[in-house]
Amino acid sequence: DDDSVPGLVTQEALKLSDVGGLDAVKKRIYETYLDPIAHPEIAKAFKPQLGGGLLLYGPPGCGKTYLARAIAGELGASFISVTLADVLSKWLGESEGNIHKTFEEARQKAPAVLFLDEIDAVGGKRSNSGGSQSFRNLVNQLLMEMDGIGSDNDGLFVLAATNMPWDVDPALLRPGRFDRVVLVSPPDEPARETILKLHLGKRPVEGIEITKLVKVTEGFSGADLKHLCDTAADKALAASIKRGEVMPITMRELNEALKEVKSSIGPW
Ligand code: ATP
Repeated sequence: DDDSVPGLVTQEALKLSDVGGLDAVKKRIYETYLDPIAHPEIAKAFKPQLGGGLLLYGPPGCGKTYLARAIAGELGASFISVTLADVLSKWLGESEGNIHKTFEEARQKAPAVLFLDEIDAVGGKRSNSGGSQSFRNLVNQLLMEMDGIGSDNDGLFVLAATNMPWDVDPALLRPGRFDRVVLVSPPDEPARETILKLHLGKRPVEGIEITKLVKVTEGFSGADLKHLCDTAADKALAASIKRGEVMPITMRELNEALKEVKSSIGPW
């Protein structure tokens, strides 16, 4: 399917309130994106185009993709997601053209959040071909699209994410590009409480000792916490089907789940 745009386009219903913790990151997102958009007449006095680039970095599973989707949800914008590490080999010699197509599609769909996951993959640093001409061309094309040369980037929000910020091509971080860089850190205690409540709150529960759960999940990512809640829910579901009635999730299921689900972050 040659005409199809690389990447997944969706309309997002997710909101920033669905993202647990990360208060400093959310504040930054309001200041950078959401407040100016809500007050365009004031914002336009200070900058010609609303939008621009933001780089999210941090260990896997702590909410980078989730945050980008929530920003799209808050903006009522289309969400276009491209995992660069996946597509680069598929695009082979046509990477520049495909990058251009992806940006054009996002511009047509504006307001749009274009999410470039694993942005470190274009830097070429992590591959043997580091610094090769084809990677230089690719980075240059990306920079041209970001700079909006000959095109209108108004209403285009380019978010990039990486687990390996040290591998990101420095040219991408210069002013006007991904010049806003935000750490998406693993959840601290209050954040873990919020995330656990978010993922348990939609289900029947009874006698949950939240303080204890928060303590024993030190080092868990948001994704690990979700996995823990899903695993406990599976156990309660199986017990419920056996009994023929809905049995709530209790500490028993959660303690069982804790034997299976461990922190996936490791030393980051
Ligand atoms: P990766 O680096 O692997 O792409 P990521 O940081 O983008 O990871 P997400 O894909 O956003 O992580 O998170 C995976 C899932 O974990 C989410 O879909 C969500 O259900 C849950 N999750 C992660 N962080 C949070 C959070 N802060 N609040 C609520 N849920 C979260």
